[in-house]
Amino acid sequence: MNLFNQALLRLKPALDHISVSDEFLEVIRTPERVVQVAIKIKMDNGRIRVFDGYRAVHSTLLGPAKGGIRFHPSVDESEVKSLAFWMAIKCAVAGLPYGGGKGGVKVNTKDLSIGELERLSRGYVRALWKYLGEDEDIPAPDMYTNPKIMAWMTDEYCVLKGRKELGVFTGKPVSFGGSLGRSEATGMGGFYVLQTIQKMTALPRSGARIAIQGLGNVGGSFGRIAAKEGHVIVAVSDSTSALYREEGFDIDAILAYKETFGSLRPVEYKNSELVEVDAKKITHEELLTLDVDILVPAAVEDSITEHIARDVKSKVIIELANGPVTAAADQILEEKGVIVVPDVLANSGGVTVSYLEWVQNRMGMYWTEKEVNEELKKKMVAATEEVWEFSKNRNCSLRTAAYSTALMKLYRAFEECK
Ligand code: GLU
Repeated sequence: MNLFNQALLRLKPALDHISVSDEFLEVIRTPERVVQVAIKIKMDNGRIRVFDGYRAVHSTLLGPAKGGIRFHPSVDESEVKSLAFWMAIKCAVAGLPYGGGKGGVKVNTKDLSIGELERLSRGYVRALWKYLGEDEDIPAPDMYTNPKIMAWMTDEYCVLKGRKELGVFTGKPVSFGGSLGRSEATGMGGFYVLQTIQKMTALPRSGARIAIQGLGNVGGSFGRIAAKEGHVIVAVSDSTSALYREEGFDIDAILAYKETFGSLRPVEYKNSELVEVDAKKITHEELLTLDVDILVPAAVEDSITEHIARDVKSKVIIELANGPVTAAADQILEEKGVIVVPDVLANSGGVTVSYLEWVQNRMGMYWTEKEVNEELKKKMVAATEEVWEFSKNRNCSLRTAAYSTALMKLYRAFEECK
């Protein structure tokens, strides 16, 4: 089964809890638009190379399409279609006036020079700009794209359009129409979701033991704020290694080391100097099956498989990555009573602050970081409470509850304009 059909399967459990018409189901299962383009770039050696670019839009019932652009070798039509569908659900769960969008280029950015990367980013926009717009489809960063790439893309778009329209991309640098708080937003939003869930469960409000798989931008900002709020980050990993330390890690120190040297090292600050501390090297699988209170997969898709799910010991999983738990693993975790906070809720802080960026661009008025975070918190708490309540009332998983509440919002919009 291709990725897109697998993604659609996630709708099935929700349909046991809500009733919607067949005509709505037909609409919600079908992407509205998928565009494939050839992006021709002159490489540094003078040769022309062609890259496959894509942009998919899934359901604009609630508003213009919204979602990232990834630069990754796995990008293809099926992947962007399933990720656009996920974005449509995510935006509905988060209460944002958007449909789903996702795009990408099949490329390994490690093979490109900085100049080639800029030409590819601008080339993507030249090929697709007619399909983008503040009220049409609003991209943002995703895997291997960042604020700098959003700046090149926005600039290219404005040149082609002949006027400044900064709200067409989000996740831009703060000095070029970006929002304060955007780069930490996904981790921060995930933490607000956790806080809301802690209030409703026996999970410790402080001192919870947390394992984070993937200490990148998202996992790193989650870890930083969780540690600041008194939780203990006992395990961290990146793509090459995983570390365990019973008394917890100094996340600020590890992130500072990683920023400078690019690798994960067990360090802490002593008199403002980074010094090495004792830690145990563990495998990626050991990290995912540690006896901790909270497990945070913040790396790649499908990292918690059936085989790993059987050995998971944490009480709560916060999916900061997109799709880190396979469908079969999900079933096992549900039977074991593990609370899985689904990606469409847990990592929606990123697109929520993207929305706030878009609002600020369009108003021409900019908020302080405190104002942005307060608004983010309000939206994350409301979305979590809504999903939690549905799951308690219907005795279903949080994932089924999230999909059900999202589908109901989409269904209401569909019925209103029928
Ligand atoms: N790429 C992010 C996501 O998957 C952010 C999308 C956005 O900000 O539009 O949620």
